Amino acid sequence: ARKFVLAKPFEGLPKLSDFQLVEETISPELQEGEWLTVDPYMRLRSASSMSIGDQFGGGQVARVIKSRCDEFPEGSQVVGYFGWRDLTVYKPVAGGPRTYQTIQKLPEMKGLPDSYALGCMGMPGNTAYHGLLDICNPKAGETLVVSAAAGAVGSLVGQIGKIKGLKVIGFAGDEEKVRWLTEELGFDLAFNYKKVNLDETFKKYAPQKIDCYFDNVGDEFIYHVVQNMNEFGRISQCGSISMYNKDRKKGELPLVPFDYPYFRFNQMKLEGFNVRRWSHCWYDAVNEIRDWILEGKIKVRESVTDGFENMPQAFIELLQGKNIGKQIIKA
Ligand code: NDP
Repeated sequence: ARKFVLAKPFEGLPKLSDFQLVEETISPELQEGEWLTVDPYMRLRSASSMSIGDQFGGGQVARVIKSRCDEFPEGSQVVGYFGWRDLTVYKPVAGGPRTYQTIQKLPEMKGLPDSYALGCMGMPGNTAYHGLLDICNPKAGETLVVSAAAGAVGSLVGQIGKIKGLKVIGFAGDEEKVRWLTEELGFDLAFNYKKVNLDETFKKYAPQKIDCYFDNVGDEFIYHVVQNMNEFGRISQCGSISMYNKDRKKGELPLVPFDYPYFRFNQMKLEGFNVRRWSHCWYDAVNEIRDWILEGKIKVRESVTDGFENMPQAFIELLQGKNIGKQIIKA
């Protein structure tokens, strides 16, 4: 088997030389990676808890080549948290948890691509669904702002927002993404956050002010959103990707601009979440999103990188914003 391990701790944007591909001899009950995923959280995890030589963690859709376990028979497909590796020996704990962080059967895809189990019908799908509906509690007619809107999570958040009758304003990092959001996904408005003045944009295009903010990026963006929110605005704090490559020295505080008095006087709510909160009802979101896709209410796009050996490159490009929709790897 081949696997990727950490060769050098990341400093800023990861470099190809920070990754090492190593060979490993393993015994015969195998699961073979077919689709693998790179996700932004891997940047954070590698910074906080990995040592040199540790294998990168991550999910994959794999096919069982040999099995002594009736639950996952030979030839079946699974979604497993096996890491950045092409062959895996895995012993499911009898009666243990079957979650996206251990091993699960492939969802009922109803003809949709298997790789969707790593995106809209998997972890990012649950993140978008519950992060919007359960944390923001949006009501029809309200205004929703989404950052990193053309990514795996953001593109779903905006489309679910439209299904629920919201006015949706998305922000992404280039013109092609912005066009995709409005012309294909049905966002009401979309802007390139690298080109516009956020405060002016909100004042002009959201004169009714913002009710819900799905925050994927952290940092300055939230300051401008808060300034333009209605009383009782709700913020779903999902991610902070704009800060992942800014390694802090020990003891150094993350200086996030945040207008406390404005936030408080306007009685807003900000709630962080980890998607594993919904592990117990995982397939509710998966199945509903699948049905929305089949009904044509949600469109899905993937950026596919070919070849297991190109995982580090795909990961670096994800952090640079080169993906549109979910970034996945075809092994
Ligand atoms: P995406 O598919 O959205 O890919 C990341 C995108 O982030 C890039 O395409 C890029 O798009 C954008 N980006 C990169 N750098 C910056 C920056 N400095 N400022 C603003 N945007 C930037 O990834 P996901 O959909 O998988 O994840 C989105 C967010 O959700 C991440 O923050 C992730 O950590 C978080 N997350 C949280 C979970 C939870 O349980 N709380 C679970 C899953 C994801 P662009 O061109 O627009 O800049």
